[in-house]
Amino acid sequence: MLRRSVKFGLTIAALLQIQGCGKQAYFVAKEEPWRADEERRCLASGYVRNNPHISRRSALGGPSACGAIQPLYVSATAHGAVSLTPQATLQCPMVPATDHWVVTSVMPAARRYFRMDVVELKVAASYSCRPRNGIAGSVLSEHGLANALDISAFVLADGRKISVLTGWKGNAAEREFLRAVHRGACRTFTTVLGPNADAFHRDHFHLDLARHGRRGAGRICR
Ligand SMILES: [Zn+2]
Repeated sequence: MLRRSVKFGLTIAALLQIQGCGKQAYFVAKEEPWRADEERRCLASGYVRNNPHISRRSALGGPSACGAIQPLYVSATAHGAVSLTPQATLQCPMVPATDHWVVTSVMPAARRYFRMDVVELKVAASYSCRPRNGIAGSVLSEHGLANALDISAFVLADGRKISVLTGWKGNAAEREFLRAVHRGACRTFTTVLGPNADAFHRDHFHLDLARHGRRGAGRICR
């Protein structure tokens, strides 16, 4: 059933556990020590401590290859100015990255193109223990490590909703806004996928902090 070789005992355990649950899709996970290093560094920095919009989640119930050291519930970004709905489950490094993107790209773009503040981001997905794009046998999605956030829409102060699905080909302001926000995300996150990437992303922006390339310095911005 498994077409790829699996090197690590932890991964094998995860695969067995998933297969034992019935028809759930299996995935291939790699051992990547940088992940825990980055997460520990972020937690030690104190960035997420004493933030009323962030609470600690005790555990993620998924198989052992999924999850994070300290998963967090995040209900707002931009230091509380912009809600995340529903709240996202993220690991620590995604919190300052999302804050930075919203403060430096999303908020200025909304003021520029709509003369208004953004008050809410619609979260299409955050933590989910599954293979990439839900395709069985793929590598573990960054969502499985709470290292990814999918945003499907931006809500303005007057209640107007700019969705990726309709706005990407919508009126001029919507198109410009969404492209500015997408460009801005590429300056912050290491993977950004939108409607130009593939059909999986026609209705949301996927943002994550994976490492790409042999030296880990590559970026994907599509
Ligand atoms: Zn995604």
